[in-house]
Amino acid sequence: MGEGFGEREKSRSILIAGAGPVGLAAALELARRGYRPRIIDDGAGPTAMEESRALGVNARTLTLLSPAGVAERILAAAQPIERFRIRSDKKILVQLDTREVKGRFGAICGLSQGATERLLMEALSAHDISPEWQTAVVAEAISNFQKPEITLRRIDGTSETVRPDILIGADGAHSAVRKALGAGFPGKALEAFFYLADFRYAGPIDTHYAEISLFDPGMVGRLPVTADVIRYISTLEDFESRIVHPAAIARKIWASQFRINFRHVEPMAKGNVFLVGDAAHIHSPAGARGMNLGIEDACWLAWLIAEGREQEYSALRIPAVKLVLKQTYGLTRLVTMRNPLAIAVRNLFAPLFLRFGSARRTLLRSVAGYDTPRPPWIDWAE
Ligand SMILES: Cc1cc2nc3c(=O)[nH]c(=O)nc-3n(C[C@H](O)[C@H](O)[C@H](O)COP(=O)(O)OP(=O)(O)OC[C@H]3O[C@@H](n4cnc5c(N)ncnc54)[C@H](O)[C@@H]3O)c2cc1C
Repeated sequence: MGEGFGEREKSRSILIAGAGPVGLAAALELARRGYRPRIIDDGAGPTAMEESRALGVNARTLTLLSPAGVAERILAAAQPIERFRIRSDKKILVQLDTREVKGRFGAICGLSQGATERLLMEALSAHDISPEWQTAVVAEAISNFQKPEITLRRIDGTSETVRPDILIGADGAHSAVRKALGAGFPGKALEAFFYLADFRYAGPIDTHYAEISLFDPGMVGRLPVTADVIRYISTLEDFESRIVHPAAIARKIWASQFRINFRHVEPMAKGNVFLVGDAAHIHSPAGARGMNLGIEDACWLAWLIAEGREQEYSALRIPAVKLVLKQTYGLTRLVTMRNPLAIAVRNLFAPLFLRFGSARRTLLRSVAGYDTPRPPWIDWAE
């Protein structure tokens, strides 16, 4: 499908609030099509390298970032995740080869969010665009959604009123843009907390696989971050005592805990104000979809703007968002179940179910992010 747009259209002023991975992807996709978006962020810079939040970069994200030349850079920097397995009591219940997924890229690779953001910023700087840091959107109600007026406040106390033709809220889960739109964020919070810790090892470790160990109740997930760092994520507060470390620990780099929410905004736009990424939807890290789904929003929105079809954005994205929320909710329930009977049924049937090639393919396609609509502007097979 073509990418036709007029020169006059390209001069539309676009303000992107938030320079996380999703805001940066939106800026880059617009810039490579000839737009000059302004991107601001109230933080001091990109996510710290050690604060490795989103870790899994899926094949769909690589497809989407390929035209901008970022996919190859991500692959060069990332840890390939070749195998994924689920074990319970030393027994391997499920083992998947992530390279079995058809297409140009493996289903998923591991790269810390800070590294992904820096690669996006590098590509954006080739278009002479950089985020304006320490500049915040102030959450004041927007009254004219066609020509939104908002206030930006800088760290030095100065402020500026802007009226962009298009405002993109990529300002995360607590989005000021979403609040200014007067949109709710309905959904639910799970009772369970998730805990995580990243360990750096002194000796060589196998970083080519990801694993979930089920403790019934509870789980500990293991994901590679870099060649010598592994992330453990768990529903158990005392999970560190259950880790079987693959080598001597050099350092515990980072630890965090959080409660999981499943929420999304609907519609994802009003007039010329659009919400992307965590500003529009949040869910559990099960399946590693959060950042990937947000980057997908950003790339679809940039394409629709270039096509002059941005008013279709919400209707096109909502089904994909609902699908991913439903799947991650199901996955999260599977790994957090506490009822012994339900646990026994899961442990018996999950391996049987995944013996079927079609079930394995469906799971792998979902890990790859290929279960949402294909980007029509990409003309090679994924
Ligand atoms: C522990 C953890 C593990 C995760 N693992 C994964 C994973 O493996 N894979 C995956 O895909 N996702 C994962 N996620 C989710 C992922 O981190 C988010 O989905 C992703 O960061 C969303 O990107 P974003 O750009 O929408 O929002 P954010 O990354 O939150 O970026 C929003 C930006 O907006 C800025 N901002 C906020 N308010 C304002 C304001 N008023 N004005 C201006 N700027 C503002 C912030 O400073 C920030 O830079 C994980 C999340 C957590 C917490």
